[in-house]
Amino acid sequence: MEGSFVLPGDEVGSAEEFVPGECTYARGGVIYASTAGHVRINSKVRSAYVEPKTNAPPRLCRGDIVVGEVIDLKDSLVVLSLAFKKGYEGRPLSDEEATIHISNVKNSYVKDLRHMFSLRDIVKAKIVDERQMRLSTSEEDLGVIKAYCNRCMASLQKRDGRLVCPSCGSSENRKLSSDYGTGVI
Ligand code: ZN
Repeated sequence: MEGSFVLPGDEVGSAEEFVPGECTYARGGVIYASTAGHVRINSKVRSAYVEPKTNAPPRLCRGDIVVGEVIDLKDSLVVLSLAFKKGYEGRPLSDEEATIHISNVKNSYVKDLRHMFSLRDIVKAKIVDERQMRLSTSEEDLGVIKAYCNRCMASLQKRDGRLVCPSCGSSENRKLSSDYGTGVI
């Protein structure tokens, strides 16, 4: 039964065998799906639940980690076009914009944002205000996770805490995430 696709009202399992979990209900000893999705079993607590199948973008809340591309740089603000929320990579965010204020870039004072970010950088950040979509990159693992050379557009490589262009040799500064270049988000 696990993994099978169910519609609302389809049988998920036996209430004798499992506890009805999320997106299910029990009636007459049988657990039914209350939403369309895939049947999952949590063997630890012996519960059967349904993982909803939806293409709707996930809700964004304070504390969530998001990934986006730098689309504009102002004197005190970076503007990102958000791509996805961490853990929901398969459900892209559409037309969602967010900003990082210069005071939320690092724990220390930042004089010029242009030394921290550049257009087209891919940035991992944490939501600090979900109503105004303000983000922070002050933590160690937050910041730029992918960047391109401003001269020749090649992917920059991290060497000794700095970014170096393997193609033209140019070096650049960013507010780097400790995960830069690791493929980890
Ligand atoms: Zn280059």
